Amino acid sequence: MDKFNLSTLITEKQIQEKILEIGKKITQQYQGKEDVVAICVLKGSFMFYSDLIRAIDCDLACEFFGVASYHGEIKSSGEVKITLDLNHPVEGKHVILIEDIVDTGLTMSYLIKNIKARHPKSLTTATLLLKPGALKTKVDLDHVGFEIGNEFVVGYGLDYQGLYRNLPFIAQVQNMN
Ligand code: 5GP
Repeated sequence: MDKFNLSTLITEKQIQEKILEIGKKITQQYQGKEDVVAICVLKGSFMFYSDLIRAIDCDLACEFFGVASYHGEIKSSGEVKITLDLNHPVEGKHVILIEDIVDTGLTMSYLIKNIKARHPKSLTTATLLLKPGALKTKVDLDHVGFEIGNEFVVGYGLDYQGLYRNLPFIAQVQNMN
């Protein structure tokens, strides 16, 4: 399991506490609102998404949006490819867009632009992790779990060469390549 010598950066307990906090805020924000849709950005955010939507106490529909920007490598290509489009229109809906990590911000910017072009009634963004030092563009983020450095991280949905998505915590990869 520890082929790349992992060191824990954010524990399972820290993640779960943060999710309850964000879930409470989103619940308050969406009190009394109808037509709420939570979008999971695949693949990386599936774990954060499934925990976060369970911490949101309101009626919501689930949608999945597949995008690829890293192609299993460690540097952002800057290109975003849609691998799975939304199943239903989000026009007139209150959309919560849930991402795993914002690094350069290019993917999230693209996603925001893409969703806005579909005319939702409102758009709220949430990301578990943010690398403020790596941002290449300004991104509107409403909920951020943790700010981290520029290190490459895995676990809790995030992979390195297809591995480590199943870890319940976030770890740093020590010896890459
Ligand atoms: P951005 O477009 O903000 O540079 O990158 C966003 C995407 O790159 C994320 O959704 C994620 O798939 C990937 N990514 C960015 N940083 C990391 C990282 O530290 N670890 C992993 N596993 N993926 C990352």
